[in-house]
Amino acid sequence: MKEAVPKKFNIFEVEDKWQKKWEEMDVYRFDWKDKKRPTFSIDTPPPYPSGEFHMGLVLNWTYFDIVARYKRMRGYNVYFPQGWDCHGLPTEVEVEKLHGTKKTDLPPDEFRRLCEKLVGKNIGAMKKAITSLGCSIDWTTEYKTMDPDYWRRTQLSFVLLHKKGFIYRGTHPVNWCPRCETAIADAEVEYETRTAQLHYIKFKLEDDGFLTIATTRPELIPACVTVAVNPHDERFKQYNGKKTHVPTTSRTVEVITDDLVDPEFGTGVVMICTYGDKADVKSVAKHKLPVITCIDEKGRMTQNAGKYAGMTTEEAKKAMIEDLKKEGLLGKIEPINQEVSVCWRCHTPIEILEKEQWFMKTRVLGSQVEKNALETIWYPDYMKYRLVDWAKSLEWDWVISRQRVFATPIPIWYCKKCNEIVLAEPDWVPIDPRMENPRIDKCPNCGSKEFKPERDVLDTWFDSSITCAVHAGWPDRENWKRLFPADVHPSGVDIIRTWAYYLMVRHLALFNEKPYKSCLINGMVLGTDGRSMHKSFGNYVASKEVFSKYGADATRQWVASGGATGSDIPFRWPDVEYGWRFLIKLWNAACFVSNQLKDFSVNEKVKYVLQPLDKWILSKAEKLTKKVTDALETCQFNIATEEIRNFTWHVFCDCYIEAVKDKLYKPGFYGEEKRKAVQYALYSVLYRILQLLAPITPHVTEEMYQIMYVQEKGFKSVHLSPWPTLNEKRIDEEAEKHGDLIMTVITEVRREKAEKRMPLNKQIRKLTIYAGEKGIAERIMEAKEDISGTCKVAEIEVIPGEGDGREVASYKVRFLAEY
Ligand SMILES: [Zn+2]
Ligand SMILES: [Zn+2]
Repeated sequence: MKEAVPKKFNIFEVEDKWQKKWEEMDVYRFDWKDKKRPTFSIDTPPPYPSGEFHMGLVLNWTYFDIVARYKRMRGYNVYFPQGWDCHGLPTEVEVEKLHGTKKTDLPPDEFRRLCEKLVGKNIGAMKKAITSLGCSIDWTTEYKTMDPDYWRRTQLSFVLLHKKGFIYRGTHPVNWCPRCETAIADAEVEYETRTAQLHYIKFKLEDDGFLTIATTRPELIPACVTVAVNPHDERFKQYNGKKTHVPTTSRTVEVITDDLVDPEFGTGVVMICTYGDKADVKSVAKHKLPVITCIDEKGRMTQNAGKYAGMTTEEAKKAMIEDLKKEGLLGKIEPINQEVSVCWRCHTPIEILEKEQWFMKTRVLGSQVEKNALETIWYPDYMKYRLVDWAKSLEWDWVISRQRVFATPIPIWYCKKCNEIVLAEPDWVPIDPRMENPRIDKCPNCGSKEFKPERDVLDTWFDSSITCAVHAGWPDRENWKRLFPADVHPSGVDIIRTWAYYLMVRHLALFNEKPYKSCLINGMVLGTDGRSMHKSFGNYVASKEVFSKYGADATRQWVASGGATGSDIPFRWPDVEYGWRFLIKLWNAACFVSNQLKDFSVNEKVKYVLQPLDKWILSKAEKLTKKVTDALETCQFNIATEEIRNFTWHVFCDCYIEAVKDKLYKPGFYGEEKRKAVQYALYSVLYRILQLLAPITPHVTEEMYQIMYVQEKGFKSVHLSPWPTLNEKRIDEEAEKHGDLIMTVITEVRREKAEKRMPLNKQIRKLTIYAGEKGIAERIMEAKEDISGTCKVAEIEVIPGEGDGREVASYKVRFLAEY
């Protein structure tokens, strides 16, 4: 006697049990020694350890776990690593809050330790959530970018890129967040439409008269270095080369022409300040204009702003307007909608400051990025243009230095005497120049023995943009190229311009090779109201709440079925609940089937006497296999999920199982052979369902597999069983047509009973079926037993001609039931 699936089940116990057992059984270990199976490597993005595994991350991780599980069953030696992208400003801010201190009040290593402690705690919580979601990660690969061993890789990549000429130190305008007090890269700048006031301001000409300019930032007037007009603008041609006073200062500047000036904007006359926006940066470079810095790192006016020094930009703006009014220089003020550049972390409008920083030459790689992005497979395809367009739009190199503490140090020192730059050698790293001197006796330039460390640190993206190589084993494993490029890089649609882009430029620069073969893009999770999910919108749902109500397998179904890959997915409780009800339906089916299979052992050598309905379900299961395989091959998780659920629920459970129950219960009447054939079909089709579902609902399928199939199939986990290959011999178009007809008749008879409010097992004394034509009549006759058994009919008469009675949809068949 074989074991049966118990009637009751507790999804939480089942999920918990398998999460522990999979780890104990080493089900998901990458086998470094295996040289036979092809490898499949996933460039799992190391998440930022905020402590909360929100629904957006649930979406990401479900996607790539489905891919990992599917590929494993396809016979790949799957490499599914997990790391943590630890550094960053939010941790610094939280530590300052928690300990009531400022990062500048403590020695850097002490502050670092506080950050590490907080990150460690947050990682614990998130790791627990990833495990609860049932992700098939190889946890022996776990790493943290804040560990010295990871520093070593980040710093080594810096050293190598420096030696290759990709890294330079220079004074350039950079995006600066005055709240975060750090330089930020173009990729960290977001754009928001805000309403601003456009001020019309008179600039007195040295000769006579005045020019009126329009600006939203009058506080920048002290930094005005020129006034410009379009060379083709007839209105202002005559002013070219004239001098004008800069209001509130004692300076005069020259009026120049520049075709970048839009004659349609404002008055057609603009002031160029250092710097109001990126256009100013271009003009300054083009006309070799001086730079007057009037805003500092904290967003306050500098000494260069004269009487406004020390004010915030807002205060300075107000004071400036008052002064202009007094002097009679202020014209009209009108509201204007404006794109404002803001910091992506804190949404503070950014300033453009000229700073000495470290840069990586990324623009020189533009055409290579484009070529490689186009050669990469993207799911969905159109997402590749996001990367290409971004790379093309970049005007500045990547600023990689940050003015923070909790980050990877830049392995650089300067000679105290001559300022010579000393770069760490590859074998010095990991090293913190703030704690250690360079390992040389004296400055190679002047012989001085005193050095000062680089105090700036690296952008966090500089840590996380080498994962493809690091995951593969660079630089320690000799054959790391075996896992490089990664087979898939999964990424959110919002971080293509950061994660996918930085990975591309770093690996191209370091290894002259693209980092990934394909990109799997997920959209955003929207809140229950269709807006993006955000705590402040009141539409936020915590993953913990979802897991604790319905478990992981139901949640994963919401992800997989929620929409096309790459599209935004709204969170809907009913979708998760539907997933949950599907699991109950599947469980009940497995319970029934396993009870019916207690005396059955499959024997592939036996020729089972398959009846039309058995052939029908087996053929349909093959077609399902093809559809699901095709969908998973192209990362169309929603199609795969819908196909399996519809088949399981409506075809297998509602139709086939109902139609064969009588044969199972009455072998004496139908014959043991027919019962065996049904058992064989049930056994095969349920196994197929479990296999196809395994990547999507890994826990429940494993539980059923272990109870019903493990002994005969012999794989220690359903997740290590080979993905079903299409059995063409089982596809039987005739049997499908035949079965569809029988099932439609049965369904219609049962529907009539239900409409008449009769129990389904109510006997029909006589069922007269008008088949409409001879061929159909013969087919119905062949399956007479199935119809009478399922519909509890005492006597069936099949008439080839047409007649009266209830219509059977999509056939010319009618029937008359007498009770
Ligand atoms: Zn900021
Ligand atoms: Zn020197």
